[in-house]
This record gives sequence, C-alpha cells and structure tokens, in this order.
Amino acid sequence: MVPLVYFVVVIDGDPSRSSVGANDHYIMERYNITLELVKKHIDGKGAMCVHTSPRYRNRFFLSPFIEFWESWVKSGGELILHPEEDVYFTPNSRQDDDSYYNDSEHMEHIIRLKVEQMKTIGLPFAAFRGALFGLTNHITAVLSKTGLHLDLSGAPGLVLPERAADWSSAPPSGYYMSKNSYLKSSSRPAKDSVFEIPLGWDGQGTDLSRNYLFHERSTYRRLCKVWDAVVERSKRNKTPQFVNFLCHTYSMRNTKLRTQLEDILDYMKQKNGKPVTAVEAKKIYNNIKKTADDGL
Ligand SMILES: [Zn+2]
Repeated sequence: MVPLVYFVVVIDGDPSRSSVGANDHYIMERYNITLELVKKHIDGKGAMCVHTSPRYRNRFFLSPFIEFWESWVKSGGELILHPEEDVYFTPNSRQDDDSYYNDSEHMEHIIRLKVEQMKTIGLPFAAFRGALFGLTNHITAVLSKTGLHLDLSGAPGLVLPERAADWSSAPPSGYYMSKNSYLKSSSRPAKDSVFEIPLGWDGQGTDLSRNYLFHERSTYRRLCKVWDAVVERSKRNKTPQFVNFLCHTYSMRNTKLRTQLEDILDYMKQKNGKPVTAVEAKKIYNNIKKTADDGL
C-alpha cells in the first residue's frame, strides 16, 4: 500500500502550571510514558517539543532532561524548539496587550540562543513549533537564517490574534513557505526555504475540538472523521498529504486519553497513514516533487 497521508506526531512537553505538577519527578514520569508509547506505536518517530519560556528559560536544557532528550533521539525521535513566551510569564516578563511573538528582537534572540545551545551539546533541533500556533513572517525568516528549515506551527484556517496565530488561508498539507508570506506556498523553494507541516485539518471549520487532529481537545470518533477527511483529500487531489497530529505529555497518565491516543494512532496507520519524522516527511515530499518534475 502506498501511504496516502504521511503524519508527524508532535508532542508538546510543557510542564503543568500547578506547583506540584511542575516538579521534575512528575514531569519525567509523563515523559517516560510518552517515550514508551511512541516506541510501541510509531517506531519512536515522535517530534518532541523542548519547552523554553521566561519562567523556565533553561530548565529543559539541563539534567535530567538532557539525558531524556538523548534517549529520545536514540529511539528514532526528533527535538523541536518550542518557546512558550506568553503563558509561562514571570512578574517581570508579563506583557498585557500583545504576544511576545510580535516582538521581533526578543524572538530572534531566543531562537538563536536555543538553537546554538542544543547544537553545542550535540542534540540539534530538527524543527520549530510556536506556542498555540503562533508564527510571523519575521520568525520564519529567523528560522531560515538559523538553519531550522522545518516548522510545525500551522493550523490551517485558525486565527488567534492575541497569540500571533493567523493561518486563515494556509494550505492544508505540507508546503515550502514563500519568502514573502508563511501562508503561501512557494513554487520555487530555495535551499533555505522553510517547509511547513500543518496540523491535520478536515477543511470544514476551525473548532479545535472538532476539525483538527488535536488529541486532548477531541474525541476518538471526531479524530477518525478528521483523519478520513485528510485521506479523502489525498485521493481527490491525487497527491499524498503531509500533516501533523498534536498531543501533550500532560495527558499521559490519564487512562482514557492514553487509550484514545493509542487507538487513534493505530487507526491512522491502518487507514492509509504512515508515521514519519518531520525530517523524513520533507525528504519524501522532495522526492515526490522531483519525480513529478522529471516526468514533465
Ligand atoms: Zn506548548
């Protein structure tokens, strides 16, 4: 069977905002469950978000997390830079009326700092993912300059101005972003163009609990329907789709949600889907494009 949809499982590892939930033991317990689940169901190919924020600027770049990231990558996964600049504020960092994602200087500083830090310890980031789908043209340009040529921030159709998220007219499947606008697909991507793999979307509406592959907000039945719509789009357009599936480490000790996650991953694999890393997705996309171009 030739896969009709290549999907990247994105795992958001933000710590809980409660004081108990934010201790290392509590976080590591959920991270370890996640790693075992990802190994069992998708051959280790999970895209794990590494949190940084005003509150925890460096915490996830130190032990015991560094050792965990090492085993994550050894098991076949990849690491994603995930700055949570707004929600995890400190008394000094709080901004009342705007997202830090609109502060170009701040974002460029954080991205450069963290990209370098992970390179130095031999665990380079494979991609970027904005907090709650936030992204701007300026951030995209910084990603391109710093060698982060993969992005997983997109949610086609979704607009959340307070979080610098505007995906109103974005393509529903993987695409190279145009230099002028991250919302537009470039027909002639350059070597440093950023490849976007958006959240799986049914094309019907913009309710995060109904129209997207957003595990915790949705139900098994709704996730199946969204998946079926993505498979249908692939058949209709006669081209494979490249999408991401979003879940979070905070739900990994919840039996009902963990079962839902295992069930939907199995469903997607059985129904024409293939789990891949973001790096693999981009390579497959390039090969398909090249074969199509050569055939012209
Ligand atoms: Zn997050």
